Amino acid sequence: MRKCVYCNGEVPAERAMQICDRCGVGVWGKKQWEHIKKTTDEAQDRGDLDFNSGKNFQEEKRRAA
Ligand SMILES: [Zn+2]
Repeated sequence: MRKCVYCNGEVPAERAMQICDRCGVGVWGKKQWEHIKKTTDEAQDRGDLDFNSGKNFQEEKRRAA
């Protein structure tokens, strides 16, 4: 079982972010959390996930521009 980095609660195995819904909503708010989940899950599907640097999000923006 994967655990939330904030509360050690259960996190679905397929989720890219290791953060549960309760904490995600608490930190970012419901709307932003849904967006973050979608973005990170798509990145995971493409296999280019890199949370530690945050670099991929910036490159994503550059590519889209
Ligand atoms: Zn949590």
